[in-house]
Amino acid sequence: MHRYDLIIIGAGPVGLAAGIEAKRTELDFLLLEAGTICQSLVEYPIGMRFFSPADELAIGGYPFPTPHDEKPTREIALNYYRKVASAENLPVRTYERVERIERDAEGFTLHALRLPHATQAQYQARCVLVCTGVWGKEKRLQVEGADLPHVLTRYDEPIRFWHRRMLIVGSGNSAGEAAIRLADADAQVWLAVDQPALERCKFRPFILREIQLRVDENRITPLTEAQILRIQPECVDLRCAQGVESLPVDFVLTLIGLEPDRRLMEPLGVSFGADGKPAHDPETYETNVAGLFVGGALSQDGFIYVARERVGRAIEAIRERAQNR
Ligand SMILES: Cc1cc2nc3c(=O)[nH]c(=O)nc-3n(C[C@H](O)[C@H](O)[C@H](O)COP(=O)(O)OP(=O)(O)OC[C@H]3O[C@@H](n4cnc5c(N)ncnc54)[C@H](O)[C@@H]3O)c2cc1C
Repeated sequence: MHRYDLIIIGAGPVGLAAGIEAKRTELDFLLLEAGTICQSLVEYPIGMRFFSPADELAIGGYPFPTPHDEKPTREIALNYYRKVASAENLPVRTYERVERIERDAEGFTLHALRLPHATQAQYQARCVLVCTGVWGKEKRLQVEGADLPHVLTRYDEPIRFWHRRMLIVGSGNSAGEAAIRLADADAQVWLAVDQPALERCKFRPFILREIQLRVDENRITPLTEAQILRIQPECVDLRCAQGVESLPVDFVLTLIGLEPDRRLMEPLGVSFGADGKPAHDPETYETNVAGLFVGGALSQDGFIYVARERVGRAIEAIRERAQNR
């Protein structure tokens, strides 16, 4: 079986950026992707706006112009990454989910499940770079009723919630953006944050401004210092700065963060930090398992503009290794 210098697992923005670097440094490599390219972004809410400007989402030095320098939407970003991957003619095998990685005498054997026919595929590589992100494993509230069917951890079309009573739980940009978009879809929105004021949340300034506009128009009701106590089929019991309430709602949308899926790396003996992410050398992004590297949101680099640069450190270390062989 052919043994590659490098297999990159995951063709999200950072896996693609790594692929471009690998190509430019003439490594013999392959990208394996469980879905289509940027599958995580495909699963983001329809029409979602990124909170970073386009130049911070660009990869491989390809310009990313947007009309009037607007923040790109999910659709515009997907179109951009598709064009870049096609222009680079990257060797991406889509719909091949890596299910298991084994160490062997010269590196690693990867076992993948190939869709749509559920056939097995095997690959060998001297080094592996895992860029599988964190999308797909949403944190859930640890309260009674958190697994009721009207408790959602993601949404697609805001219009589904037209004239519905929505409690959104979360103090980050995803929760803020959801509150804005659902209010604009004429849902009745409560936004439960754990901070004493909206200004103390992790919202980007433009998201905070847009929330506040809707608060002034009574289209979003903020609940500060909120603690969800119990979720029942037709109401949510919560404590907040405004008192203890039993809030009648149709849906609860919890956007309280994501955590990495450890199943691929744990069996290899990879060490994980307190944040649940794989520990790695900050210079090379190599884990404690020699030859196994991490990049992107799976490492600590949550922003694309940070991760796209730093994943180059892993590629450089892998290139040096291939050269000295
Ligand atoms: C709602 C939302 C808004 C965001 N807005 C911004 C923003 O404005 N600016 C910013 O910088 N960041 C933003 N982020 C974060 C940003 O999207 C991530 O940091 C970025 O997608 C990370 O890229 P990645 O390539 O590391 O991971 P991902 O984009 O998650 O890609 C991982 C890829 O790996 C694939 N994969 C997973 N497991 C396997 C497997 N076993 N085998 C093969 N393939 C696999 C997945 O299908 C996926 O395509 C946002 C995130 C969310 C959720």
